[in-house]
Amino acid sequence: MQTEILMIGTELLLGQIQDTNAAYMARALAAGGINLYWKTTVGDNTERINKALQLGLLRSDVILCSGGLGPTVDDITRECVSHVMDMPLEYHDDLYQVIVERFRHRNRSLSENNKRQALLPCGAAPIYNSRGTACGLIAESEKGIIICMPGVPHELKAMLHQVVIPYLCWNFDIHRTIHYRVLKVYGMGESRVDAAIGDIINNSDNPTIGLLASRDAVRVRITASAAAKADAEVLIEPIDALIRQRLEEWATGIECE
Ligand code: ATP
Ligand code: MG
Repeated sequence: MQTEILMIGTELLLGQIQDTNAAYMARALAAGGINLYWKTTVGDNTERINKALQLGLLRSDVILCSGGLGPTVDDITRECVSHVMDMPLEYHDDLYQVIVERFRHRNRSLSENNKRQALLPCGAAPIYNSRGTACGLIAESEKGIIICMPGVPHELKAMLHQVVIPYLCWNFDIHRTIHYRVLKVYGMGESRVDAAIGDIINNSDNPTIGLLASRDAVRVRITASAAAKADAEVLIEPIDALIRQRLEEWATGIECE
């Protein structure tokens, strides 16, 4: 299975904002065992978004888009997906009622263009947005699969983890397991442990490393994602060795929990 990501927004091309979503998505896909082969950035321009989507459909099984799902006229992602997938836009009143409710809850007034956020390419599935108004979407046809998420980073992250990665793993039969090992470190405070292995923590994606201070010890949790538990252990082992090597000088003891 091959995926690619399409980052949509003129502000990204102008360098006005850092494209943190692309890096985040890339890491999350890798950790989920999903192959990412291309990354494209395109401005808020119908013709160029259409071209990028058409090219993506030819070379990848899935295109994951970020941005352009808002209510304003420059948010054109859903129109472009509708065009290239040949799935006309359909108004969903149930999606609109979710938006109405969210605005009411926040005491904000709706404008007519919020109705655009209740449009979906016919046959596409909505992705519930637990943190904002713009729902995401999954459009599937014989042309391929296009998944759209909002540009707002915390909204995108929630959808990615709650829906998109589980959906891809289920749809393409990707089996990953999350496995972790905890090292209990005695005789050192959390900040000293952090100072000694902070670079390993920052530079590790899989496994990831987390610290937890408690009364008796500082716990270092090494978490790996892999096809099977044994494969995860293979990823964990060298990190475990490296961490022990760094800490043995100061710690009074290190043991596996
Ligand atoms: P909205 O409903 O807010 O309009 P949207 O889906 O239309 O959401 P955009 O308008 O493209 O998304 O982006 C909204 C905001 O999210 C941008 O102003 C920017 O701050 C942030 N953002 C967009 N794309 C990215 C990105 N690739 N990386 C980091 N932040 C981004
Ligand atoms: Mg927008």
